[in-house]
Amino acid sequence: MLSSSPSLSLALFQHLPDAVFLIDPHSSDILDCNAAALHQVGMERSELLSHSVLSLQKDVLGMPQWASLAQAIRAAPQGLVFVGQHQHKSGAEVPVEVCTSAFEHEGREYFVSIARNISQRLALEQDLHDRDMQLHYALTQASDGLWDWCLETNEVFFSPQLKRMLGYGPHEMRPSLESWSENVHPDDREFVQRVLHEHLSGQRERYEVEYRLRNRNGHFIWVHDRGRVCERDAQGAPRRVVGMVHNITDRKKTEQALQELASHDALTGLPNRREGEQCLQRHLERCRQLGTTLGVCVFDVDHFKAINDQFGHAVGDEVLRQIARVLGAQVRPTDCLSRWGGEEFMVVCADTRLDDLLVLGGRLRAALAQVDWPTAAVLGPVTCSFGMAVFPHHGSTAQALFMAADSALYRAKAKGRDRVEAAVAAALSDPA
Ligand code: GH3
Ligand code: MG
Ligand code: MG
Repeated sequence: MLSSSPSLSLALFQHLPDAVFLIDPHSSDILDCNAAALHQVGMERSELLSHSVLSLQKDVLGMPQWASLAQAIRAAPQGLVFVGQHQHKSGAEVPVEVCTSAFEHEGREYFVSIARNISQRLALEQDLHDRDMQLHYALTQASDGLWDWCLETNEVFFSPQLKRMLGYGPHEMRPSLESWSENVHPDDREFVQRVLHEHLSGQRERYEVEYRLRNRNGHFIWVHDRGRVCERDAQGAPRRVVGMVHNITDRKKTEQALQELASHDALTGLPNRREGEQCLQRHLERCRQLGTTLGVCVFDVDHFKAINDQFGHAVGDEVLRQIARVLGAQVRPTDCLSRWGGEEFMVVCADTRLDDLLVLGGRLRAALAQVDWPTAAVLGPVTCSFGMAVFPHHGSTAQALFMAADSALYRAKAKGRDRVEAAVAAALSDPA
């Protein structure tokens, strides 16, 4: 249809968005061009038609090069494609992809060159390249470690940085789920698996947990791990999950140190009064639920003031530290020994009856008697007085139990010190 209308063919040629040049293969002169070509080089038609096509190209200089270029064009039936720069009259360079082919018309040979402005495409390619570089950087250099888990195969890609964080080389660590799951701390495993499962089943928007992960030399580091399903199958089931791991060991250590400071006594390292109270409360609730007994033992160093007075505060401090060490070694790991005040201490013993508690009191006294005290030559061995109370017999609240044990302690003091006394009248000391 077009060939039947030369004016339409001409209009089509003029309106093509790509620059089109008709070239004399022998002289390289531009014989004709369309509007886009004029626009691309910023010239008037009369101006451009007196130019060699070589003058447009930034990198093609002189005829010998043209002769070999023309040969190459003739040898390429689909057209010779190259990427170059067209020079705009203003001096600006326009990146172009040029496709030049040869044809014959009424016994004469011509070249037609289509020069497409590719600045936009190059910008996109550059953008993609930049992103690729960023991704590459993220995968290999960023301080966070990345993982990419394919649920079908259970294969996991661990980024070099993640491996480095765990002490592995780039070619170590099998790319399997077990390489990760087997190294999660046993105490954290159930929790981590639960959060992961909740995310995979759609109950949580993302997977995010802090837990301990074993490194190559068997030590645990603390990590913050977060991830998300990034690909699903046609039924909506997760196919791929990607995530990021951050080493938070230093932060955890600081938190733990602060926690320790807030809950422990700096002199003896024992839990402080606040922690002791919470411990008593916790154990009491548990024993109440289970219907078991709970023992509370409070003790106070006898004539401690005399130690300070005769030997100075530093020796007094050392004696307190020694008491904490010696008596701490006598209680069960589940018992809670705390420093209640200056030279007063408390032990909370779950599932303990009064007779067990009295045995414990005897053991603590005997342990003190074994110590080679620095003050013994002058003041004799360091002794303590003990008061014992048991839930539910001597009180049903933490306060009542403590008060019952404390009055027993003062009875021990009154009776001459260095002895164990049990609380007596539950009803009297328990307002509840
Ligand atoms: P009692 O047998 O009646 O308990 O006599 P005591 O001397 O032990 O009792 P008192 O309450 O008169 O004296 C306790 C002393 O403990 C007074 C206080 O200065 C001292 N003390 C409290 N805390 C510390 C501490 O952290 N270090 C040292 N060195 N002394 C302390
Ligand atoms: Mg005392
Ligand atoms: Mg005291």
